[in-house]
Amino acid sequence: MVELTLLRTGLIDLPRSTFFPDGGPEIHRIPVWSGLLRTSEGLVLFDTGLHPVHVDRPDATYGAQSTVTPVMARDDAIVARLASVGVRPDDVAIVVNSHLHFDHAGNNGAFPRATFIVQGEHLAYAKGKPNFPGVYWDIPELTYLPVTGRSRVARGVEVVPTPGHAPGHQSLVVDLPHAGRVVLCGDAAFTRENLERGAIRAQDEAAAKESLALIRSLVDDDLDRVFTSHDAASWARWRHAPETYL
Ligand SMILES: [Zn+2]
Repeated sequence: MVELTLLRTGLIDLPRSTFFPDGGPEIHRIPVWSGLLRTSEGLVLFDTGLHPVHVDRPDATYGAQSTVTPVMARDDAIVARLASVGVRPDDVAIVVNSHLHFDHAGNNGAFPRATFIVQGEHLAYAKGKPNFPGVYWDIPELTYLPVTGRSRVARGVEVVPTPGHAPGHQSLVVDLPHAGRVVLCGDAAFTRENLERGAIRAQDEAAAKESLALIRSLVDDDLDRVFTSHDAASWARWRHAPETYL
């Protein structure tokens, strides 16, 4: 049994150039979200979203000069979103972080009883780097399980390395009992257009393009099976909590 619920954890205003090498300065408002998986081996959470400090202080992480501006309501906090579907933070057995940027690991501190699955290469890379603010994830009480390469998380749930956005970035491959395979790809693809064009802005563009191709191959080119990280148009079409994918 695996059931997927998508939970919105906020919005971010940022320039299109963040996502595409040929993108301009125009500001897009994009969603940030987490995926809750109910599995036969317990609850798995994919990414922990933006910290609610941004409700009142959008510039709390990167300051007023940043072109990246969170837009958050109180209901967007992951703890509130989980409560809306009857889940307490301590019920979550495993958290998978695609990577440790502030919009994907912002609430790691809310899950002191969970085991965090992150690629070991990514953990080592992110530690101490200002663009992976440790205040949200480098917390002594948390239990990180560094993994290398493809790793089983639960029955029908597996992490797959998809580097490029950052070293050791990973995606989550989920085989749903009725809907079949889906991929929660984190920032390996921000939008469906990244996958369609095979183009993406990334720290390592060559690796990122290989990851886009890998994701396409994982779903036999059926892009309706890929949940990209920050696509407003796709988000509007998807089912959100309390609806689920089974
Ligand atoms: Zn992101």
